Amino acid sequence: MNKISIAVHGGAGTILRSNMTDSLQKEYEMGLTEAISKGYNVMAGGGSSLDAVAAAVASLEGFPLFNAGRGAVFNNEGKHEMDAAIMNGSNLEAGAVCGVSHIKNPVLLAKEVMLHSGHVLLSGAGAEKFAKLKGIAFEEDAYFYTEQRYRQWQDALKEGVVQLDHTDKKYGTVGAVALDGHGNLAAATSTGGLTNKKFGRVGDSPIPGAGTYANNNTCAISCTGFGELFIRSVVAYDISCLMEYKGLSLHEACNIVVHQKLIKIGGEGGLVAIDKLGNIEMPFNSEGMYRACKNSNGLMEVKIYRE
Ligand code: ASP
Repeated sequence: MNKISIAVHGGAGTILRSNMTDSLQKEYEMGLTEAISKGYNVMAGGGSSLDAVAAAVASLEGFPLFNAGRGAVFNNEGKHEMDAAIMNGSNLEAGAVCGVSHIKNPVLLAKEVMLHSGHVLLSGAGAEKFAKLKGIAFEEDAYFYTEQRYRQWQDALKEGVVQLDHTDKKYGTVGAVALDGHGNLAAATSTGGLTNKKFGRVGDSPIPGAGTYANNNTCAISCTGFGELFIRSVVAYDISCLMEYKGLSLHEACNIVVHQKLIKIGGEGGLVAIDKLGNIEMPFNSEGMYRACKNSNGLMEVKIYRE
């Protein structure tokens, strides 16, 4: 079997050591470690990168500290409307959902959309109807309620602003990218979006090419950050294009997009990326990014802050 690699993120932003307690840091690290192990084990057992990213993201969606699935933020109406996407680098198939409520694991619904709907992106009530038909797990409102998110929403309502996950500018979206033993790349991303978001707002996460992209010829990417700017910059596809058309390495392409192009338009955030050789990049232009990576050469890292 060829080399296998996986990387996950749990959001980027103003993540400072000074604002973190030891026990909270341990919880974040536990969430990342669990997710990376679940994804890695799928591929170590001969499974595909597609199943690996779905398993890793589903694990993060079950973790209340991250802004996806169970820990999804509140929108302006006090609801949880979630977005997710998955993409298969071997055939460029993609599946995504946006504005869905009560879905326990939006990433698993996105995968079902890719495999069995004949479409790429399903929204809101229609996506939920499809989920029922496919036996996808639903949860009541109480499952998605967390005290911290409720407080964030109340603060945002008072201030009349649309918040970026946390009041201190943190993006808690989750995502994973992987290269399996057959040389196939895959990416997946899942999010609750922005606290207090209005008007059916959809971010970059469920948009192939913006927040999520995979192509066996180049790389797999999952982004986190201010979605509007990531959509306008077509971040994930831009990195792939710089590799495909300009012959840049993954490192060079990530550097240009995250540290030059995004910064120019005020696009705070980061991403995890893997190329077809299994090279891993986890760049961000914010203070920190919850991230982890593992490969079959013995690499295993779990990090939060800047180096
Ligand atoms: N990119 C996500 C969005 O704009 C937010 C995040 O990364 O936390 O919906």
